[in-house]
Amino acid sequence: MRSTQRIGCLLCFILILFPGCSKPVPSQSEFILGTVCSVSLYDRGRQSVYREIFDRLREIESMMSANIENSDLGRINRASGIEAVAVHSDTITVLKRAVHFAELSDGAFDPSIGPLVKLWGIGSDAERVPAEHEIARVLPLVNWKDIVIDETASTVFLKQPGMGLDLGAIAKGYAADEAVRIVRAAGIKRALIDLGGNILVYGAKRDHSPWRVGIQNPLEGRGAYFGIAEVENKTLVTSGVYERFFESDGKRYHHILSTRDGYPVDQGLLSVTIIGQSSIDADALSTTLFALGYEKGSILLESLDNTEVIFVFADLSVRGTSGAFEHFTLTDDDFKIMGGF
Ligand code: ADP
Ligand code: MG
Repeated sequence: MRSTQRIGCLLCFILILFPGCSKPVPSQSEFILGTVCSVSLYDRGRQSVYREIFDRLREIESMMSANIENSDLGRINRASGIEAVAVHSDTITVLKRAVHFAELSDGAFDPSIGPLVKLWGIGSDAERVPAEHEIARVLPLVNWKDIVIDETASTVFLKQPGMGLDLGAIAKGYAADEAVRIVRAAGIKRALIDLGGNILVYGAKRDHSPWRVGIQNPLEGRGAYFGIAEVENKTLVTSGVYERFFESDGKRYHHILSTRDGYPVDQGLLSVTIIGQSSIDADALSTTLFALGYEKGSILLESLDNTEVIFVFADLSVRGTSGAFEHFTLTDDDFKIMGGF
């Protein structure tokens, strides 16, 4: 009896001293924002924080998915050419950032790509190669300059009827930043957020060694990697031909579309990986640089701080900023590093 009491007290003591270690909660995953979102909280990881993070991710989806009828995007798109629509401040924040990248890339990245994305239907049951006249009909609707954002009134108006927003290239980055904000506020020191390949590592590992994060191999499905980056407090985001695509008559059609000709972007690249601080920016930028291509993309990069990039070309040569290769190990010798800049 007495010894049981003593063990009870000892357990109590351990629980109070190490509340986070007492009940380790394993990683959790849910399907949100069109992808598998996985979160691993270490040390003080607890169920309530997981719940808060996944609730927030679902909230972001419910505001920013173009496929949910009553999301902010659904309502903005239905009112295109008719009237301004009141939306959440989160939607304004993300849309403003998207427009910033549209401006930087002279429209290669464009959040008003909605009608073109719908026409191709890549990743949906309706995927198909559209006829040229269909592409010609929707291309004039893709124009970020016709997006009117009124921050004070918290409204968005699309000037042309038939226009449509799509935040698929940036919303997951915002969601990853939001997840880490919750992690930080909960006093958790180390976490790994992976929103369908939008990766964010927070803190250092327990032994103070950096995290080892695989860089997506663009020839294979998600999760396969061709090299490993050692990082701390960084986000890693890849855009490429592997993520969503379909094949027709032996030709592959992937999901990043050219705002110039309306077809999947072909800049001789298989993927672009960004290693940076802000996941919303890294997400927008990986799509932007993929769409711009190596030459224009590298010029754009010169104006950005704290941003490393790895370009993978169709012949499996790899180029990037010298900083990106400082803590990088190639693990697949089909790929060749041609140097940093
Ligand atoms: P993933 O969604 O695989 O992480 P990206 O972040 O590169 O990849 O986003 C691709 C998505 O962005 C597409 O599925 C589509 O919804 C949208 N999109 C496609 N082309 C463009 C473009 N030129 N500018 C902005 N968004 C785009
Ligand atoms: Mg992106």
